[in-house]
Amino acid sequence: MDNKQMLMIPGPTPVPEPVLLALARHPISHRSDEYSAIMGEVNHNLKWLHQTENDVLVLTASGTGAMEAGIINFLSPGDRVLVGCNGKFGERWADLCAAFGLEVEKITAQWGKSIDTEQFRAKLAADTDKTIKAVIITHSETSTGVLNDLETLNRHVKEHGKALIIVDAVTSLGSVHLPIDRWGLDVVVSGSQKGYMTPPGLGFVSVSPKAWEAYQTAKLPRFYLDLGVYKKAAANNINPFTPPVNVVVALQVALRMMQAEGLDSIFARHQRLMKATREALKALSLPLFAADEVASPAITAVAPISVESEQIRSVMQQRFNIALAGGQDHLKGKIFRIGHLGFVSDRDILCLIAALEATLQELGYESLVPGVGVAAALRVMSH
Ligand SMILES: *Cc1c(COP(=O)(O)O)cnc(C)c1O
Repeated sequence: MDNKQMLMIPGPTPVPEPVLLALARHPISHRSDEYSAIMGEVNHNLKWLHQTENDVLVLTASGTGAMEAGIINFLSPGDRVLVGCNGKFGERWADLCAAFGLEVEKITAQWGKSIDTEQFRAKLAADTDKTIKAVIITHSETSTGVLNDLETLNRHVKEHGKALIIVDAVTSLGSVHLPIDRWGLDVVVSGSQKGYMTPPGLGFVSVSPKAWEAYQTAKLPRFYLDLGVYKKAAANNINPFTPPVNVVVALQVALRMMQAEGLDSIFARHQRLMKATREALKALSLPLFAADEVASPAITAVAPISVESEQIRSVMQQRFNIALAGGQDHLKGKIFRIGHLGFVSDRDILCLIAALEATLQELGYESLVPGVGVAAALRVMSH
């Protein structure tokens, strides 16, 4: 029984069988009409998923490659940027900007809390000379399971008028409503291995007309990730460099499945999975790392007290073949994280919670009442 692996980490995420089968096809030429037809459909459906008429450019890169593209195409050395930092990925943005010689101002919050948008508002309002060139925010902070208040933050950025808003939507795109055009988000990055039900390999960047204007004068060096080249290629339904053809073919199938489900249903499913998971954990008296009001629909972080996180992960893996994620940086050993984004169903959550109860029992968790977690999850699902 070594083929029952269940991936409950926040990326890579589970992949449906039709997508896996598409992946197994023999590669085709990326300069063929057959490939262009596929790429054309993928480009079209990516705009649907991203709720935008902007270009959604497809890169051969992990999410971090898309993040880098989101910086170097629109900014110049010495540019002042505000970066929201309340977890590992916010810190990565700050490091990335510093590596390219930008003047970084961090707006921090404790890991597990959401960013205080008021601090952004004050900085932006004080910037009458318009020296702030961009505001960078991680929408769903995967390291802590916190969803930052992008809508409010974006309103403050729009009041400033000049700064671009650059959004890390790597685990929010496809799991929560993110109307790029309605909100006027300038640069939004994500990756195929998170909410797209597709294996790792593709990074996505959506670019607004205002961001393209900034592109004209941006002076950071760029070559492989020069988005102007991708825009030109996308207009002809091709890629500038050899794409991972199989992953693109797989994405075509995944996007068709997402269209069949519909955006509202996808978001409602993620809400339900999040709530069921959280209610089950509460019933089991396992402390949630992020409060309900700021919980990410993609991921739940748990901070157990009387049992060891790493022991839970180890038993879940060895006895049940369920992979959970650990904590990152100073949270290593302090939390474990459950990914529930992409191709995840009610059944997966029920199975996960039941296995977690068995794991707690094996570890001698004293406050365990077997079945209460599953019952709590079921209550959410039957509403
Ligand atoms: C996964 C992730 C990324 C990108 O990570 P890669 O390993 O480079 O794909 C960026 N931001 C967030 C919030 C993520 O969850």
